[in-house]
Amino acid sequence: MSEFDFQTKTRVAYGIGRSKQIGEDVKALSGGTHAVLVTDPGLVKVGVADEIASALRGQGVEVTIFSDVQSDPSSVSIDEAASVIRESNTRCVIGLGGGSAMDVAKLAALVAGANHPTEHYALMANPFEPKQIKTIMIPTTSGTGAEVTSTVVFSNREKRKVWGWDYDLAPDLALLDPTLTVALPPHLTAATGLDALIHALEAVAGKRGNAIIQAVGLQAIRMISGSLMQVIENPQNLEARGQLSIGSMFGGMAIEQGGTGIAHCMGHALGTLARIHHGRAVAISLYHAYEWNIEGNEAIHAEIARAMGAVHTTSTSVEDQAHAGAQFYRKLVEDSGMLLSLAADGLTLSNVDRLAETAASTENAPMRNNNCRYAADEDLNRLAKLILQ
Ligand SMILES: [Zn+2]
Repeated sequence: MSEFDFQTKTRVAYGIGRSKQIGEDVKALSGGTHAVLVTDPGLVKVGVADEIASALRGQGVEVTIFSDVQSDPSSVSIDEAASVIRESNTRCVIGLGGGSAMDVAKLAALVAGANHPTEHYALMANPFEPKQIKTIMIPTTSGTGAEVTSTVVFSNREKRKVWGWDYDLAPDLALLDPTLTVALPPHLTAATGLDALIHALEAVAGKRGNAIIQAVGLQAIRMISGSLMQVIENPQNLEARGQLSIGSMFGGMAIEQGGTGIAHCMGHALGTLARIHHGRAVAISLYHAYEWNIEGNEAIHAEIARAMGAVHTTSTSVEDQAHAGAQFYRKLVEDSGMLLSLAADGLTLSNVDRLAETAASTENAPMRNNNCRYAADEDLNRLAKLILQ
């Protein structure tokens, strides 16, 4: 059994309507009565940001709203959020939204503690100042698991996807409230739910696999595989939404320990080439890479397939079980209604070399190296062709 060093740094609270107590959480956690709410324009439009702001004010907490978060955040927008946080003198930052809003909130809260711009810390070039501001995350998608991780992803000024990491980036509190995910359109429920499933899957199958990753990762796979189509077919199903929220949080805990693999390597490269939703980029990448990847570790892929509910008997061979998992995954992607072709996103076979080269670049090396099967340059090229065909 592999060695591990495990501590959950984020307190997690789950409940239908749990986010309504946010004001009490802010006061108890930070000792203050002010918070900066970091969110995106979409959540302002549908009234979710206002619901949280009203709950805060109703419990005696003043709130400053930063709602300028864009999908796939840039270092520039994180710097803007950090200025708002600095000027407010707040002791608490709340991230409300999907991975982008939570990543901006996590990173801006830490960047605000000093006067360097966000890019100063990209790819761990420089250490962060110690954390002074408490962070609370409220996910409105079930996908990234960013509410429990200490990594953030953002684009730098050259529009390359880079990441930041620090123990202090892990939020202090994650509030999982399935009522907040009901407004998510089906295509985003599909993209974010598949992303969560892939987090668990890549962490479990990855080179760093250990008992903790298996415990949380396989449970994430069970909960997400069992609930994703229910939620897509019936968006109001709060029980299934809850399963997806918790599964996605477990997926975040799994990648925190285990990292990701080839689907994230190719998916991040796709995100560098064109503006494609992260969840869709990784889901399409794994759609084409799953079968190839099984050879890296058949036994673990058989275990994943059993957790998915893809095989109901152990009488079939390990190899058959592993491939049943690949079939289950591909059918799930198709049933979810996800558009697999990237032609409308401006990507065609003419981009194969650039996609393969980007996947092989330094910023994507940790994902490539952690994958259970080694991807040689020609493998990246072949996968790029399948993805762009
Ligand atoms: Zn992901």
